[in-house]
Amino acid sequence: MTKTQEFDVIVIGSGIGGLVTATQLATKGAEVLVLERYLIPGGSAGYFEREGYRFDVGASMIFGLGTHGTTNLLTQALAAVNVSVEAIADPVQIHYHLPESLDLKVDRSYEKFLQNLTAYFRHEAQGIRRFYDECQKVFQCLNSMELLSLEEPGYLRRVFFQHPQACLGLAKYLPQNVGDVARRYIKDPQLLKFIDIECYCWSVVPADMTPMINAGMVFSDRHYGGVNYPKGGVGQIAQKLADGLEKAGSKIVYQARVTKILTEQGRAVGVQLANGKVYRGKRIVSNATRWDTFEKLLPAQQIPRNEKKWQQKYQKSPSFLSLHMGVKESVLPSGTECHHILLENWAQMTAPEGTIFVSIPTLLDPDLAPVGYHIIHAFTPHWIDQWQGLSDLEYEAKKEEAAGRIIDRLEKIFPGLDAGLDYLEIGTPRTHRRFLGREDGTYGPIPRRKLRGLLGMPFNRTAVPGLYCVGDSTFPGQGLNAVAFSGFACAHRIAVDLGL
Ligand SMILES: Cc1cc2nc3c(=O)[nH]c(=O)nc-3n(C[C@H](O)[C@H](O)[C@H](O)COP(=O)(O)OP(=O)(O)OC[C@H]3O[C@@H](n4cnc5c(N)ncnc54)[C@H](O)[C@@H]3O)c2cc1C
Repeated sequence: MTKTQEFDVIVIGSGIGGLVTATQLATKGAEVLVLERYLIPGGSAGYFEREGYRFDVGASMIFGLGTHGTTNLLTQALAAVNVSVEAIADPVQIHYHLPESLDLKVDRSYEKFLQNLTAYFRHEAQGIRRFYDECQKVFQCLNSMELLSLEEPGYLRRVFFQHPQACLGLAKYLPQNVGDVARRYIKDPQLLKFIDIECYCWSVVPADMTPMINAGMVFSDRHYGGVNYPKGGVGQIAQKLADGLEKAGSKIVYQARVTKILTEQGRAVGVQLANGKVYRGKRIVSNATRWDTFEKLLPAQQIPRNEKKWQQKYQKSPSFLSLHMGVKESVLPSGTECHHILLENWAQMTAPEGTIFVSIPTLLDPDLAPVGYHIIHAFTPHWIDQWQGLSDLEYEAKKEEAAGRIIDRLEKIFPGLDAGLDYLEIGTPRTHRRFLGREDGTYGPIPRRKLRGLLGMPFNRTAVPGLYCVGDSTFPGQGLNAVAFSGFACAHRIAVDLGL
């Protein structure tokens, strides 16, 4: 009989949250096993290749790859295992194409961005500056301290003595949402709509439901560390972390789908794979969503009380309809920016197919497409219910129709797009569910109603002893740099628990 292998820590999933946890623990001397159901690491930050194109699955507007401060968590996570990616600076974070001819670029320079916005809303010049300056204050607090586990009293004491003002600042902003702060300074309804979409384009909820801490990061880091694109595609970040993990003596196994978290006397002690294989660990970390963790990997009927309460406050966000396109370079007018947001009607901002998000990573790294061609990734929120119960033929037809609608709208920014299409692959919420292993293909948790900032987001420990969660279902939420934060925090808490 073969003996069940035992590890210090088992991490279920190799999204950026899982990989940062694993690499941080490996550098502290833990023997870590990462189990990934798919063929490559990265999850939503993975990639796929077709006919000479390398497409990012999801993320492509990358924060956290800066060179200085303490919030450049992706750079720090890579460096910890002696690897790095070449970061290509994106001069403009987003080019917005909004209702009432609001056509605005978020320049890397803070002053230039404020000038661009003020040119549209001169009567709000002072309010604009005061609002964004307040976001900068949040960022300055975060960017002055080491970012680790808020569940570790020793760290909290240390960081408070080192940075008392910054800690008090963060405590003040923790329960606040962007909408309330914005209305303190800004009155113009159209400008408040703009603040809504500034939030929606990464939090998928309007300003009133977006925590101030997250906004402070996003609205300020884009002008500090900047938005950067990793040479070779976003998948490089996960690939390099996985390489670093193995070099540090730990292990990652692909095509290893965990179907069960094993418990003994209520404590998590191991996992079982779809092929029946069992591994034991002193600590178990789930990088799957909370819904997958507590309703599928653990018995749904035993869901802990605090998880039920959490689900009363947070719900699954919609997934996306994604168009991965290869296009002739003639489709892109000269000077086109890498990231775009298109919305024609404010009332449709949060509706399925309301807002269209666009990334053209080949403008920063041409090697991702054949010579003379570009990648356009266009995606828009969609709920899985719309895609269930269809025959194969109906499903394909529905995909084609939806893609046609998106392409028609994008023709406004990229005239000749349809005619210039060389390759098109359409992903639906079902695709996201299948390839990312995320319940309903969700982008992550969103508040059901207005909550008190980030206060309701859980940290890494769970009600099940020995089990931790990491990734976008934990504090501080979605985005690569945010899940890296969660990974640093998770590894820190586990290291203390294991006495490493
Ligand atoms: C279309 C789209 C666009 C986005 N754009 C951006 C952007 O521009 N910038 C940005 O910062 N963020 C963006 N995001 C968000 C960002 O990609 C995610 O928040 C982040 O990657 C989530 O990381 P994670 O570690 O929480 O989980 P995931 O990426 O979901 O990784 C979880 C991993 O666990 C594996 N797994 C799950 N269950 C099991 C199991 N049972 N057994 C084994 N393995 C399992 C999965 O296969 C996956 O690899 C985007 C997301 C999407 C979908």
